[in-house]
Amino acid sequence: MARVYNFSAGPSMLPEEVLKTAAAEMLEYGSTGQSVMEMSHRSKEYDAIIKEAEQDLRDIMGIPDNYDVLFLQGGASTQFAMVPLNLMNKNKKADYIITGQWANKAYKEAARYGNARAVASSADKTYSYIPKTTAEDFDKDADYVHICMNNTIYGTKYHELPDTGDVPLVADISSCILSEPIDVKRFGVLYAGAQKNVAPAGVTIVIIRKDLIGNAMDITPTMLNYKTHSENGSMFNTPPCYTIYIAGLVFKWIKKMGGLAEMKKINDKKAKILYDFLDSSKLFKGTVVPEDRSIMNVPFVTGNEELDAKFVSEAKANGFVNIKGHRSVGGMRASIYNAMPVEGVEKLVEFMKKFEEENA
Ligand SMILES: *Cc1c(COP(=O)(O)O)cnc(C)c1O
Repeated sequence: MARVYNFSAGPSMLPEEVLKTAAAEMLEYGSTGQSVMEMSHRSKEYDAIIKEAEQDLRDIMGIPDNYDVLFLQGGASTQFAMVPLNLMNKNKKADYIITGQWANKAYKEAARYGNARAVASSADKTYSYIPKTTAEDFDKDADYVHICMNNTIYGTKYHELPDTGDVPLVADISSCILSEPIDVKRFGVLYAGAQKNVAPAGVTIVIIRKDLIGNAMDITPTMLNYKTHSENGSMFNTPPCYTIYIAGLVFKWIKKMGGLAEMKKINDKKAKILYDFLDSSKLFKGTVVPEDRSIMNVPFVTGNEELDAKFVSEAKANGFVNIKGHRSVGGMRASIYNAMPVEGVEKLVEFMKKFEEENA
């Protein structure tokens, strides 16, 4: 068996150790005589799995007691509707910062339910930077301000949060959750689809301040009301049981690695190896302004589409897969989530150097 270095933006690599544990437990979990896939979600064994997963996530992220952790379905995209349905409830207004396609989709969805306002955008330069904002840019009467913290497609990230005053900040953290420590209490809501940095596709993690629950619009479908899931411990209906189990294994892996401070060290190291090379290369260059660079998604180009295509195809033949850029940006993108080992990035850079020599 030869496992490749998978630079996919999502679904993406999982820690090999987690996959091995899952494989070992596939036919029988503990001494239950059954796979987690086959278990009733109401069983005491499964109850322990989901509760432990939640506790481990609370421990690693330092989630305060006045926040609920919900394991939902529908992907981050469903949160684009759930957030306004549940939170645009006082003044029916919300401010959005448009830093890419996901942020824009969230904004457009919110506009269906109330007065969504685009406060700032970096569309003018293909979302290659994070627009600067000050507290005065935001409407004091807005029910919340929404940002996409790490822009998976364009490779930008908020290294400093916008000052929104007393207005709750809501963040899509799909592609940066668990990549570094985060101060949860600065947010009203955090949400993330699992398939980038947590687990296989199928579960969406929502971390929400409890006082924001319970005032959903009347039209809100039961399943899209945070209250429904909060009151039922994410068990109102069948949760994505197996995916939550894998997420739980990933949380334990992160704990064992030393927690989020340690993950950040490793992620910074990987990103630096790649960005240092991009900054010194005559062939490849990064597409994002240095101060807003993501440590998870690294887009780069050669400036020549044919050469980009040649690189992608030779990379694949050498075991570096899914490195083609998003169709809207072109070029390449290396997604280097938690599960990508340092060695994978070092080998990629070696390969890029060789490609540069051969194609000078
Ligand atoms: C992938 C992604 C999404 C979409 O997630 P789904 O789970 O497919 O709905 C939304 N936001 C960001 C930042 C993403 O990276």
